[in-house]
Amino acid sequence: MDKGLFKILKKIYFKKSYIKGENGYMQRIDNGDKFDCDSGTTHYSNCSLSNIEILALEQSGYPVNEIVKYTHDECIHAYKALLEHPHLSIENLLAAYICGFSSFPRGRQPILSYLFAQAVPEHKMINDGDVCPVCSIRRNVWIEKGHKIFSCYAGSVWNERWCVILLN
Ligand SMILES: [Zn+2]
Repeated sequence: MDKGLFKILKKIYFKKSYIKGENGYMQRIDNGDKFDCDSGTTHYSNCSLSNIEILALEQSGYPVNEIVKYTHDECIHAYKALLEHPHLSIENLLAAYICGFSSFPRGRQPILSYLFAQAVPEHKMINDGDVCPVCSIRRNVWIEKGHKIFSCYAGSVWNERWCVILLN
């Protein structure tokens, strides 16, 4: 990822959200971001950017505020399809992790995701509930694509909620 773009995205996704209140407790402040309770995603404001940065972001085509939806079955299918990718192997992922110490952080998320893809059985959502009892993936998952790509690129590791890190 281009360094300039990374800096701009950092301003969007790592805005100050809290200040210390009178009692010493952290209080949420309005930074322009809006959380959608229905999808569990955030619409990120670009109010912290200069006009030049907004223009650069638009020209980059980076998917800020692009919401994608996956069903449980699509997630399982996509994870299993990852195992067929010719350039993905546990050896490659371990090598990328090691290289991350001297280049950009790659975290251990790709390794965990690959192992999850291997371990999860091929199955469909088997009950009427919201969460699958086999793999704990929800029936429907909405993801703010740009934030997930950015946080994976920055080396973030979640260790759970497999569906939201599928974009990894
Ligand atoms: Zn499942």
